Amino acid sequence: MTAAIVLFTSDLRLHDHPPLSAALRAADEVVPLFVRDPGVHAAGFDAPNRRAFLADCLADLDASLRRRGGRLVVRTGPVVRELRAVAGECGATEVHMAAGGTGFAHRREERLREELGRLGVGLRVHDGVVTAVAPGTVTPAGSDHYAVFTPYFRGWSRQRLRDTCPAPRAVRVPGTVRGEPLPTREELTGLSPGLPAGGETAGRERFSRWARTGLPRYEDRHDDMAGDATSRLSPHLHFGTLSPVELVRRAREQGGPGAEAFVRQLCWRDFHHQVLAARPEASFQDYRTRHDHWRDEKEAAADIAAWQAGRTGYPVVDAAMRQLRHEGWMHNRARLLTASFLTKTLYVDWRIGARHFLSLLVDGDIVNNQLNWQWAAGTGTDTRPHRVLNPVLQGRRYDPDGAYVRRWVPELRDVDDRFVHEPWRLPADRRALLDYPEPLISLADGLARFKHARGRD
Ligand code: FAD
Repeated sequence: MTAAIVLFTSDLRLHDHPPLSAALRAADEVVPLFVRDPGVHAAGFDAPNRRAFLADCLADLDASLRRRGGRLVVRTGPVVRELRAVAGECGATEVHMAAGGTGFAHRREERLREELGRLGVGLRVHDGVVTAVAPGTVTPAGSDHYAVFTPYFRGWSRQRLRDTCPAPRAVRVPGTVRGEPLPTREELTGLSPGLPAGGETAGRERFSRWARTGLPRYEDRHDDMAGDATSRLSPHLHFGTLSPVELVRRAREQGGPGAEAFVRQLCWRDFHHQVLAARPEASFQDYRTRHDHWRDEKEAAADIAAWQAGRTGYPVVDAAMRQLRHEGWMHNRARLLTASFLTKTLYVDWRIGARHFLSLLVDGDIVNNQLNWQWAAGTGTDTRPHRVLNPVLQGRRYDPDGAYVRRWVPELRDVDDRFVHEPWRLPADRRALLDYPEPLISLADGLARFKHARGRD
């Protein structure tokens, strides 16, 4: 009887899972393993909202495996130690896992390769599991990655994607391997009340439903903040309950401008992965320095707190920050303008904003969060790094009747459309009745400070 281990990380699904398919082909018995590594906690990667979503994903994975005669084995401890122990318990000769996108994931792969090698256990790392196209596959002449999205997208679109693999019919797990009880949502505190449910089953249902209703209209409606017309699949992509290869294939099969626009967004994910794989330090250092001398965190503390609480006095920024706290999720347009507001209008270091987002986002991941923050701050891959988004104009454009603002900022519920994005223009007697702050800073002053800091005044 031969045995193999599949180490699940950011790929918590049974459909289209190349490491699992390969392990099932190679061995009679397979251990589907998830390790709760304290190193992930120490690195600050596991906020309560993501732990809750993860608990749903593990429960769903376990249930799906049990329907196929198997089970999910969960262990707690340093990943290398646990893998060595599990390999010893079942006599596995191979470990299969997905290639990861962060420096943390790469270091983990290296350590596993070395330590398992000593035991004579092979490590097989599979590409095209976490991303549709593996980092490093599409490169420009003379560089290891693309720094500009559009040419990357052209090259990426020409790649032939691998075929998808079906979910297995049966999985036999060796009885000799010990597992632990699964973590549950109930043991967690500090969760956002509007957090979505996790798990592959929920993710597949969501995509199938949205593909019928939302995908055809995605191109026209994806920036409509109140319309909430995007897929909301980001947490499923983050935890890998959905396969990006399968999503790209299914969207292309459906076709149409909505599908094309959606595939382009999925490519942004791969784009950031290939940047970070080549420049892992970009998760914490400027990808392109603009020689910023950000405001001192202590000196800016009141502004940062107002931004986090959704009390800046700019309605669309405040609506977005409150949505983040309530749902653990935020619309992409809202992420862009809250990030621009913090880094450019308030001139606060992007790392401070990225840290706050990561503490709440259910889809929060180092690759997409940090690189999108850098994009918004102008220290990343944006080809117009000094542009500043104006929250009033953005509000009027993407929330024209103020429905998004009224949903999240009840203080402004009765303010009419003309003033909903600039309540400071209300007559003084009406303004005095609102429990809503004056703007933290005028947009003109914020812009002047930013231009000065970037040497562009
Ligand atoms: P859809 O519009 O339906 O797009 C489909 C998928 O494409 C998304 O689920 C996502 O996986 C991918 N995608 C879309 N836009 C981007 C983008 N700009 N960069 C990378 N992938 C993208 N996304 C995360 O997954 N995790 C994060 O931590 C994260 N942090 C962000 C921080 C900032 C400051 C900004 C500006 C953007 C951030 N994004 C992040 C990207 C984007 O906002 C979200 O992926 C998107 O809003 C998720 O909603 P959706 O699933 O409905 O997206």
